[in-house]
Amino acid sequence: MAFEGLADRLQNTIQKIKGKGKVTEQDVKEMTREVRLALLEADVNFKVVKDFIKKVKERAVGEEVMESLTPGQQVIKIVKEELSALMGGDESRIAVADRPPTVIMMVGLQGAGKTTTTGKLANLLRKKYNRKPLLVAADIYRPAAIDQLETLGKQLDMPVYSAGTDISPVEIVNQAMAKAKEEHLDYVLIDTAGRLHIDGDLMDELIQIKSNVKPNEIFLVVDAMTGQDAVNVAESFNEQLDVSGVILTKLDGDTRGGAALSIKAVTEKPIKFAGMGEKLDQLEVFHPERMASRILG
Ligand code: GDP
Repeated sequence: MAFEGLADRLQNTIQKIKGKGKVTEQDVKEMTREVRLALLEADVNFKVVKDFIKKVKERAVGEEVMESLTPGQQVIKIVKEELSALMGGDESRIAVADRPPTVIMMVGLQGAGKTTTTGKLANLLRKKYNRKPLLVAADIYRPAAIDQLETLGKQLDMPVYSAGTDISPVEIVNQAMAKAKEEHLDYVLIDTAGRLHIDGDLMDELIQIKSNVKPNEIFLVVDAMTGQDAVNVAESFNEQLDVSGVILTKLDGDTRGGAALSIKAVTEKPIKFAGMGEKLDQLEVFHPERMASRILG
């Protein structure tokens, strides 16, 4: 379960301070020390933890009294608000093209869950917003990736555009755009090539697709279970591509939460969706506040 380990780790600390009718500076100090250790154990970025603790401390020590809450509860409320802010604060929406189709480029390393998430996102757009997406297979290096997207398209009963591997990704996308316009489809979701590691050729290709297609969104798909590696991957992709948002996959198996709690602060890009399982309906809009509640109960 998402954040389970971190939530368990923080339970004691929360219980200890929750019932307090009076919270001293010493109590805040002890509490923040434990929260700091828990976050570091959860693999949250060191600098992110430092800034977070500083903010909580400042607010908790200088907090004005709210009549409905005990001082202990107020301190917990501050921690929860700051955790939520750390993950982006408000839920963030998808940018939409003035004239359809809206183009979304999906990027990320191989194995992160990019292709599955492309299918899941298309499914969500259709189910939740009643939109008609086109899936585009733009990975010309791995025929298996094209097959995978086509299989997903069949499962979802959704159109897939593919043109084999003897054609440039830019050309594939141009053809797909023409098809989407012709068939009045609202979204074009481009499943780009992934590699095992970040490499210059791949980035050049993605930059080329970006400058040709001018997507409305570039979603970086990262595996939440890889913790700080996911954060580093996000930083690199963002530096080169200026992505518009992050999709965290495999949050269902991530008990620690290091990536979820660091990525927004490090990249300044919002987490838009979270993968919560392998099934095609297991993609959720990412709500920072609800995620913070999962951690603090
Ligand atoms: P790609 O190489 O980035 O396109 O990755 P795939 O889409 O092929 O996914 C790699 C593996 O991760 C597959 O076995 C997926 O079923 C699995 N996967 C993707 N997203 C999730 C998720 O949110 N939760 C879980 N548990 N598994 C996921």
